[in-house]
Amino acid sequence: MAKKLIVLSSKELVLSFLINQDAVYKVRVDKRGASRLVDTIFKGKVKRLAKGMEGIFVDIGLERDAFLPLKGENYKVGEGLIVQLVREPEKEKGAKLTTNVKLVGKYLVYFPRGREVKCSSKVTAEEREKLCSLIENELKEEGVILRSSACGTEPELIKQELQKLRELWQWVQKRAKVLKKPQPILEEYPSYIRLIRDNWRDLEEIVCDDAILWNYITSFLEEFEPSMLRKNLYIKDLAHYIHRYRLYESLRSIFSKVVWLRSGGYIVIEEAEACTVIDVNSGDPTGSCHEENALKTNLEAVEEIAKQIILRDIGGIILVDFIDMKKQESKNCVINALQSAFGEEACGITIYGFTRLGILEMVRKKTGKSISRSLSEECPICSGRGYMKSNAMLLLEIEKELINSGHRVAEVCVHPLRYERMREALPTSLQVRESYEVSVNDYSISYA
Ligand SMILES: [Zn+2]
Repeated sequence: MAKKLIVLSSKELVLSFLINQDAVYKVRVDKRGASRLVDTIFKGKVKRLAKGMEGIFVDIGLERDAFLPLKGENYKVGEGLIVQLVREPEKEKGAKLTTNVKLVGKYLVYFPRGREVKCSSKVTAEEREKLCSLIENELKEEGVILRSSACGTEPELIKQELQKLRELWQWVQKRAKVLKKPQPILEEYPSYIRLIRDNWRDLEEIVCDDAILWNYITSFLEEFEPSMLRKNLYIKDLAHYIHRYRLYESLRSIFSKVVWLRSGGYIVIEEAEACTVIDVNSGDPTGSCHEENALKTNLEAVEEIAKQIILRDIGGIILVDFIDMKKQESKNCVINALQSAFGEEACGITIYGFTRLGILEMVRKKTGKSISRSLSEECPICSGRGYMKSNAMLLLEIEKELINSGHRVAEVCVHPLRYERMREALPTSLQVRESYEVSVNDYSISYA
């Protein structure tokens, strides 16, 4: 399938759009100058044992110590180790680590400390058997995932890549010995390179509006797949692409809670701290819904839900409140449809089914913030709650202060958003003024 990668840059941000079948399939964000943490390999140092948490805290040179869950292994405080970051640090929590390091290539994902051989789900059974036996003969005490791009690839090339990844691991180990302080050993690539690495077989074009980034992509391709160099274009003004693939519209839609379905129904996506809640609505004002119609709308919603989760890169716990269905048969139908709607992204997703309250539970592997979160800051007016004080409440506060004040009131000043409503509600004898200097949630009273 033909895909395109559009890399749009500004002074502080680099936005990568993966286009699939003429539509934006993924948007990924990199901050200029910031190093990528997820999948970066670090030299770490054990700081302390995490009591009652089955793990240890490891200094990897970041502001906060990272957490490494353990399964029976033993480490001493002060001991050095090689770890890979699997989850970005959040507000309160430090980063999460693993010792099961992975190195990603064109055909293989290599686990120097792993033992298993796995195969991408996109590979056919017949091909799978052939590839697995080929690689099993080559492996010592190592693990490998064969990527779908290994299909139909000459065995010699796959063996060569395995050797290359082994050498890279040896280099990482050597570096770890040399480095004294905790710090990154092998930094993971930015999103646009990762997107190339994961989709290289299908990519027909890469466009980028920044000469430095274009050079960086070029030098990556020279090493990775020189035949792709001719597909990598530097185009100073991407207006044509922005227009044709509706890039800004797709960005705007990422910030929208409501997504409409063709049938008139809609879904509401609420990203909260602990989980994401998706509500499915039929759009039928009577609210009554027959099993058949419920299933039909739910199946339509399933497609959009999978699309939005991938587009917005939503991870962690996801709860979906579908339109009520009575029959188990219908529920199974929705679960199966959801599983297949994720397509090539299905491997990172576990669907647990419906809870007793009829909510569908699933988990998507989380490595960091979603796209809308990484492009947002907390709203200073509502402190991130999404709501502001009601007019009635503000009015109550003003009324109470007016009663309590023994002085003669000169004027009440409110934010322009409140002005009309307050002027209406407050006694006409009062002077009401509007000013952007007053917060939406506040007012100021001046006395004569
Ligand atoms: Zn707000």
